[in-house]
Amino acid sequence: MPIDFSAAVHASLDETVIRCDAFWGGQHRKAQSGQTMSCHSPIDGSRIAVIAACGPEDVEEAVAVARRAFESGIWRNLPPSERKLRLMAFAEEIESRSEELSRLETLDMGKPIRNVRAVDLPETVKTFRYYAEALDKIYDEIGSSPADAVSMIVREPLGVVAAITPWNYPLMLAAWKIAPALAAGNSVILKPAEQASLTALWLGELAALAGIPDGVFGVLPGDGEVVGKALCLHDDVDGVAFTGSTTVGKQVMGYAGQSNLKRVALECGGKSPQIIFADCLDLDAAAEAAAWGFLYDQGQNCTAGSRLLVEETISEDFLAQVASIVAGIAPGNPLDEDTVFGAIVDAEQMNTILDYVDAGEQEGAVTVSRGGRALAETGGYYLEPTVFGGVDPSMTIAREEIFGPVLSTFTFRNFDEAMKLANDSAYGLAAGVWTRDIDKAHRAVRTVRAGTVWLNCWDESDITTPFGGFKQSGIGRDRSLHAFDKYTELKTVWLALGSPA
Ligand code: NAD
Repeated sequence: MPIDFSAAVHASLDETVIRCDAFWGGQHRKAQSGQTMSCHSPIDGSRIAVIAACGPEDVEEAVAVARRAFESGIWRNLPPSERKLRLMAFAEEIESRSEELSRLETLDMGKPIRNVRAVDLPETVKTFRYYAEALDKIYDEIGSSPADAVSMIVREPLGVVAAITPWNYPLMLAAWKIAPALAAGNSVILKPAEQASLTALWLGELAALAGIPDGVFGVLPGDGEVVGKALCLHDDVDGVAFTGSTTVGKQVMGYAGQSNLKRVALECGGKSPQIIFADCLDLDAAAEAAAWGFLYDQGQNCTAGSRLLVEETISEDFLAQVASIVAGIAPGNPLDEDTVFGAIVDAEQMNTILDYVDAGEQEGAVTVSRGGRALAETGGYYLEPTVFGGVDPSMTIAREEIFGPVLSTFTFRNFDEAMKLANDSAYGLAAGVWTRDIDKAHRAVRTVRAGTVWLNCWDESDITTPFGGFKQSGIGRDRSLHAFDKYTELKTVWLALGSPA
């Protein structure tokens, strides 16, 4: 039975509960165990959906269906120009429901709808179009062959790929994986985060409408330690593309080792530094970036600039400027078009963030502004932002990813000290450097160990550029043509040339 997401989205928060089954093999399916899980909106705590909680038996069947679809060649052997048209159609199905999908995303995980409309939805559509356009324009290679032979280096799809995604950008991060994996000719099973599965579940149906053959794309909601783990341990899954915490990323690698050594690509956590040198040309812009670097989407952002490093000579004034921007930010209903700071995804995450704020105070950081719970009367999960000064690199708030609106500020005296602080982290996802000195900027780019470095800007991003982390922030890259590396194997072919007759 197709789910009438569209009607349900408009009725939501008026006591309509969406009933969502899994979608695989071209059909909506309940979990074979009959189990379900409840989905609550962080906006007001109300139950908005009941979702199939799949189990190992569902994984078993969904993988078998995906494998059969792959082996049949129904997708990978389609002419590239035809696969391209269907992925384009997938983009159109999503785009034509942009408004409903935006509302659903906000209802489900609490980020401001203006952010979803401006970023998540357009980027999702753009991602499908980018890989659709790319797929018939990429050529294989001919090696430097001797006179009596030809060597060819060709790319082949991995087979069955499991895409495991987090809750902070449910649709967009799913697209970053599904689109290149499908473009490369794989069968794909998406396992969305249990906190925010709704838009992902809609994708299953939209793929079918776009003409993606049955079995080639499925969505299996459920618990990470059940469905995610079973996919990672499955001998008939050839690759896992994971985005989530470093802790779970390490487990995913372990599962691959325990099973069939499937290919593993990881996009994990971050603790990104914004480094402000005293010679920064535009300190106002830097202060805005420092504030929004940890406030955007309530700090539930892998690239959140959660460590602010400021040169000592300007630190007092700069921190005061950041604090005054932060003081003007209050949480509000994320469905309201004017809201720029929404809800925290659930009560558990909200309490985790509050525990980190307590830890910061107990370990001796200077509280510049302390955010507590707000709007509790709504039943939703809202926090005010917190800014700490005088943070020491040994403190918990300096080392661990908080994934919430908490800023840790450090000071430094010179370039070397700034670089040492910036690299003093297990993570290496992103960094920002603010200076007018071009030599200093380039030296910083070469010294900072991070997958993305922003010079005199923050969070510039596009599907055409790779995204991923150094160190424990991950392995492999999403976005750009480099993403195909995650979803393909290289095959070398030698052809011996006989003598002409
Ligand atoms: P998480 O690690 O708790 O969960 C991510 C996914 O893994 C979910 O779908 C979950 O169900 C699944 N999972 C949980 N246990 C599993 C297991 N044992 N085996 C297989 N799968 C399992 O992460 P989260 O709380 O959903 O998301 C927040 C994290 O994601 C943060 O650390 C954030 O930095 C990271 N993240 C990284 C990027 C990036 O591109 N580097 C982007 C967004 C979020």
